Amino acid sequence: MSDCIFCKIITGDIPSKHVYHDDQVTAFRDLNPAAPTHILIVPNKHIDSINTLTNEDEQLIGHLFTTAKQIAAQEGIAENGYRLIINTGAHAGQTVFHIHLHLLGGAPMRLMG
Ligand code: 5GP
Ligand code: ZN
Repeated sequence: MSDCIFCKIITGDIPSKHVYHDDQVTAFRDLNPAAPTHILIVPNKHIDSINTLTNEDEQLIGHLFTTAKQIAAQEGIAENGYRLIINTGAHAGQTVFHIHLHLLGGAPMRLMG
């Protein structure tokens, strides 16, 4: 999608601190980190939000989570723990309408942000 920030990060048109890339997903560091480790894992395919997911996307969404697990291990936060969040819609505070899985860790967190 031409006006989507995360699509432009995936293609490299907007620079980011890149962490991981394969044919299905891309991961990069959040510009405004809310924890010592704050990484966004996104599908390379543009999907607005969980509200527009289809059954065809089930394998892709599973891959987002196995990638998060792998990155957590690489970042050294797997043992102490981390939080995975997908904000959906206005009440959840979704600001970028390209699905992204937040991986947060590196310090203890309260239950609700
Ligand atoms: P949301 O609130 O939609 O769940 O999360 C959007 C996240 O994207 C925020 O944590 C914000 O800091 C991050 N973000 C927004 N624009 C950019 C950008 O251009 N580059 C990077 N790396 N992160 C961004
Ligand atoms: Zn997009």
